Amino acid sequence: MKTPSALSPQPSASLLMEKLVSLCKRRGFIFQSSEIYGGLNGVWDYGPMGVELKRNLKEFWWRRNVKERDDVVGMDGSILMNRAVWQASGHESTFSDPMVDCKTCKGRFRADQLDAIACPMKPSKKIATCDGEKTEPRDFNLMFSTHVGPMADESNKTYLRPETAQAIFVQFKNVLETSRQKLPFGIAQIGKAFRNEINPRNFIFRSREFEQMEIEYFCRAKDGLSLLDYWLEERLKFYEDIGIPRDKIHVKDIPDGERAFYSLKTYDLEYEFPFGIQELEGVAYRTDYDLTQHINHSGKPLDYFDEETKEKFIPHVIEPSAGADRTVLALLCEAFSEEEVTDQQGKKETRTVLRFHPRMAPVKVGIFPLLKNKPALVEKAQALARSLRPHMTIFYDEAGAIGRRYRRQDEIGTPFCVTVDFETLGDPDPALAETVTLRERDSMEQRRIPISELKDYLSDRVF
Ligand code: ATP
Repeated sequence: MKTPSALSPQPSASLLMEKLVSLCKRRGFIFQSSEIYGGLNGVWDYGPMGVELKRNLKEFWWRRNVKERDDVVGMDGSILMNRAVWQASGHESTFSDPMVDCKTCKGRFRADQLDAIACPMKPSKKIATCDGEKTEPRDFNLMFSTHVGPMADESNKTYLRPETAQAIFVQFKNVLETSRQKLPFGIAQIGKAFRNEINPRNFIFRSREFEQMEIEYFCRAKDGLSLLDYWLEERLKFYEDIGIPRDKIHVKDIPDGERAFYSLKTYDLEYEFPFGIQELEGVAYRTDYDLTQHINHSGKPLDYFDEETKEKFIPHVIEPSAGADRTVLALLCEAFSEEEVTDQQGKKETRTVLRFHPRMAPVKVGIFPLLKNKPALVEKAQALARSLRPHMTIFYDEAGAIGRRYRRQDEIGTPFCVTVDFETLGDPDPALAETVTLRERDSMEQRRIPISELKDYLSDRVF
């Protein structure tokens, strides 16, 4: 058995990101989109491990915010919507970032991030201090436009949605009437959003195609501020429950002048990424701005009728809006660890481990026969794999030395490994028949457990 002897010195921020990006590619978490054609800037694909990780995140978010609550219902809106939605919401006229052009290198940069972006001609300098000749900032709209139907003209122009929220606002009445909810209640949605970011960077942190997990929680105006604080707490608990400790999340109360003009109060939840403390989620009190805009533009009544007081009014809304990809990146950063271990022969090596919370881990359990050339062991291990597969994601592996197999699972963050060995077959000790070796990722401790207890033992820990 190997024992951890010391944590290796943690790599610098840029080296850590390099190692993480390389691990993500090597082990099938995240690939560059269209890689064989040179990629597409700001767009990423999730591989077999990445898709499981992201699904675990999204499913836990859905479970926590929709299934376990009786005051939140879900919906799944379309990515393409009538252009009028984006005119009413203000996105067509104002969803832009300030951009400067550099006449020297011909690059285009987000004007409010010049001190964070390296000069393409002199990477040791940031754009803010390089010698390039820059233009004054001008607004650049972040929406991708497209046309619906065979004619590419203004009459059928629309946009890929830059946020999921607007579908919720425009379907407010339909959802209210069909779900028979009463205020306060929420509508939740997970889906893709698209922004033509001027400078996509930091791996999947800022990309041009990403996924959001949003709730619009409708309420009476008098309850807005207290519900905002309630949702802030809920969201902080959520991050703890997926393995991101509270002290790594910084809550920023966005000051007047920096918030959207319609927001009475907004908190940003920021995470300590290796490249700096950056936004993971916004929890915003958006007042009745969005519903009012859609009432005014569509002419349709999107108000609420209170049966008890016989009052009609436009609800206010609290919006916790999180990025699934940014949270995946936070999970990866939080989990990544390298440590020095010493094997039984006293040889030192580096163990790379993704210490995911078991609930987030892409693979929950690795199942191995001790030796692949012993049919009795292989059959038993395969039967065990078959019996667990309907209940959780497992990985069956019979290739290579057992230590190497453990190490491969450590690298993708598998919290448990199970080895079927001779004792499982009752050799030499019949009392150990039908037991397996259970190895725990973080402590690397091994112990025997009866096969009959395995499913419950694992289920209690991985969901
Ligand atoms: P930023 O200031 O970082 O551009 P934002 O304040 O514009 O973000 P919101 O419009 O509040 O972001 O979107 C809600 C969430 O969606 C963000 O907290 C983030 O997690 C995610 N998100 C927004 N833009 C991107 C992007 N380009 N790539 C990945 N995730 C994003």
